[in-house]
Amino acid sequence: MKTLNDRAAWLKGGDAACSVAPPEVERPLRLILLGAPGVGKGTQAELLSSGFACCQLSTGDVFRAANSADRGGCADSAPSPAMAAAVGFMRRGELVPDQTVLDLVTERMNCLRCRGGFLLDGFPRTVAQAEALDRILDREKIRLDGVVSYDLPIEEVVARASGRRTCSKCKAVYHLTAHPPAREGICDKCGGALYQREDDKPETIRVRQETYARSTAPLIEYYRRKGLLISISAEGVPGAIFARTLDALAERILPPEKPAA
Ligand code: AMP
Repeated sequence: MKTLNDRAAWLKGGDAACSVAPPEVERPLRLILLGAPGVGKGTQAELLSSGFACCQLSTGDVFRAANSADRGGCADSAPSPAMAAAVGFMRRGELVPDQTVLDLVTERMNCLRCRGGFLLDGFPRTVAQAEALDRILDREKIRLDGVVSYDLPIEEVVARASGRRTCSKCKAVYHLTAHPPAREGICDKCGGALYQREDDKPETIRVRQETYARSTAPLIEYYRRKGLLISISAEGVPGAIFARTLDALAERILPPEKPAA
């Protein structure tokens, strides 16, 4: 597995540069990942980005980075007023306004243009965002390969989300039962402390599921009509879901670059 890019250009925006330049690949993979919060799409994004050249571009990670800046955490500068307001929406489990999200993505256009491709995780979240993304990709002549939708019954999603733990340093994702770290509370990859995201707490999970059903589920229909939807069952362990993902990609999309050994 290759070293994961630090995604500095995505997480910090502006002129930040990534520590590891993505390799030139013959056919970069460009996907949108859909799925209810807690379904495990972040884990799949990590697996895909370890095997291919594409970075996981999570809008939620950018808001969480701003949130930690707000509390004297790891981000470099204090958040802008729009970002501070966005953090408030995130803390309540509500969607951040479309325009704020679109501004954030537009500021990071270089990540969409990246020669390694991209995995959009958590964006678009509404049909209005999807339409705006279509316009951006058309204008930039960037091809989207597909939209992978991870499907799982709601009770299972809530159980998964509440057991999730995230590394405070490298953002790697674990689960108390399905994917525990070797040492309790410590990240296997970087030794960082694991924590439960504020929005993975039970009260917030419920709001997020309702928000997902209301705003994001219509996206599935949107992309189905465009012939881009690839539905994958998210039942089982991450390795099994990943194997299904690779099979579906091989079947539906021209074979992308082989995963690195
Ligand atoms: P996630 O990690 O993708 O579940 O995102 C965490 C939170 O960030 C969400 O519950 C929203 O409050 C906010 N967020 C992330 N991406 C978006 C988006 N595309 N549109 C609106 N809000 C978003």
